Amino acid sequence: MKYILDSHTHTLVSGHAFCTIREMSAAARRKNLSLLAITEHCVNMPGSCHEYYFENYRILDRNAYDVPLLFGVELNILDEKGSVDMTPQLLSSMDVAIASLHPPCVRFMSRKETTDCIIHILENPLIQIVGHLDDDRFPVNYDEVARAAAANHKLFEINNSSLASTSFRPGAHDNYLRLLESCMKHDVEIILNSDAHVDTLVGARDFSEPLVKESGFPLEKIVNDSLSHYFSYLKPEIKDYFSNNLYL
Ligand SMILES: [Zn+2]
Ligand SMILES: [Zn+2]
Repeated sequence: MKYILDSHTHTLVSGHAFCTIREMSAAARRKNLSLLAITEHCVNMPGSCHEYYFENYRILDRNAYDVPLLFGVELNILDEKGSVDMTPQLLSSMDVAIASLHPPCVRFMSRKETTDCIIHILENPLIQIVGHLDDDRFPVNYDEVARAAAANHKLFEINNSSLASTSFRPGAHDNYLRLLESCMKHDVEIILNSDAHVDTLVGARDFSEPLVKESGFPLEKIVNDSLSHYFSYLKPEIKDYFSNNLYL
């Protein structure tokens, strides 16, 4: 499987991660990645950074590190309406936005509430990826959300950290098999993300890749294989930026 980019990682400022942007980018270079997205936990995650941190992404140079970087966010989903913890104005300035359910930031919801919530997230034009939708504590109707992902041209991630023995999220393996089956049915593409909170895990797919192969999911529908494939889900400015900077 061709895998040249990791779209979900955290640095020190996320509060429970261990490395700097420079250390994460150096790890991405060692793993032969062509692109790395830094996606810090948004403000409602205990210990994470203030919104000023995200506002100040404007001073960063995407091409000043060991691999080209994107600077984005992992939003916290807050309620069944799909509210998130960043203003639309600031969110529109992110290179990439993942939205995830994290127990400290949202109550456990019924299957109907969780499904409706994720459909609202998929309908939000400022969010590109639904993160780790794999947790037994948030039951979801995968068929319904896959249909909404197809209608809104959005990605689900397969989160390698969820599948590790150190994961806090129960049921990920079986839930991902259900999600992938629904994605195949509705022709939804996916992304494999490490969700690395330390440099040694950048680009990790030791659990996600075997699972995807087990499911029979078509490898050409995994967007990690090229920048242009991945960029087709992001705002056009990202593709334009890298086109002008000779990376495509
Ligand atoms: Zn998360
Ligand atoms: Zn994360």
